[in-house]
Amino acid sequence: MTHAPQPRHRAPEPAEPPTEPLAPQGDPGGRPPGVAPERDPGGRPPGAAPSRPGRRRRGPSALRLVWVYPDLLSTYGDRGNLLVLERRARLRGIETEPAAVNADQPVPRSGDIYLMGGGEDLPQILAARRLSADGGLAAAARAGAVVFAVCAGYQVLGTEFGGTEGERVSGLGILDIRSGRGERRGVGEIVADVDPELGVPRLTGFENHQGVTSLGRAARPLARVTVGVGNGDGTEGAYAGKVLGTYLHGPALVRNPGLADLLLTWAAGPLAPLAPAEENWARQLREERLAAVVG
Ligand code: GLN
Repeated sequence: MTHAPQPRHRAPEPAEPPTEPLAPQGDPGGRPPGVAPERDPGGRPPGAAPSRPGRRRRGPSALRLVWVYPDLLSTYGDRGNLLVLERRARLRGIETEPAAVNADQPVPRSGDIYLMGGGEDLPQILAARRLSADGGLAAAARAGAVVFAVCAGYQVLGTEFGGTEGERVSGLGILDIRSGRGERRGVGEIVADVDPELGVPRLTGFENHQGVTSLGRAARPLARVTVGVGNGDGTEGAYAGKVLGTYLHGPALVRNPGLADLLLTWAAGPLAPLAPAEENWARQLREERLAAVVG
């Protein structure tokens, strides 16, 4: 399988319902309840004016990052994944245009990278129903957008997952995986070695899920588990084309910048390497987490 990065051709902007602009510094609409404002590590000053809904804040070449349902799916700092994509794109001179889309809003079809986080069982079921009725995420994935989903979000991408009592709940069928409830909860640090096709260093993360996942023929395992549970069969996560899911929290892209760069490459083409000084924090975090688990 080849993964030559192909920047997606951008069709003229369709008439699309306005999307909630992501306002990282204090917009209640752009931040899940209870999440304190954070400083953008890339340096956008707190309180910087967000774009108005429906307006392009930046040029048409900006990479459109769509954070899907932060109000339902964002249990373990999943916003960190978005921040890392923004930062690592910006360091390469790629502009980004982030948007948070809550569950009562339509999912725009014109995003370049869609992000979904983890969630508890009931919000996960609600998210699956709403996303299925909306159709935007599936349409974007079909059109070649990059999708990155964590834990509950990963399960929702599949054909089905286990509900609160283990009942079958329909997923979106974007990824050929099927999840059910396992015997026991997988909780703790996870380490996994990525499919060599993808050229991404060893993954480090934290997992907390009851679900176990089996892959169909159209999906490949993202990685092989060294420590932890992952899908429950020795593999971890799955991908097909530019759709990739994982059980890793942490948040995954903060701990695994190589995975962030893979997603950016899928969306924007080959990336320039970063200066080692730009990687210090991520490298230290990785070393510390990996040393704590595998020594
Ligand atoms: N509710 C799902 C499970 O337990 C996902 C949990 C999560 O996103 N952390 O498997």
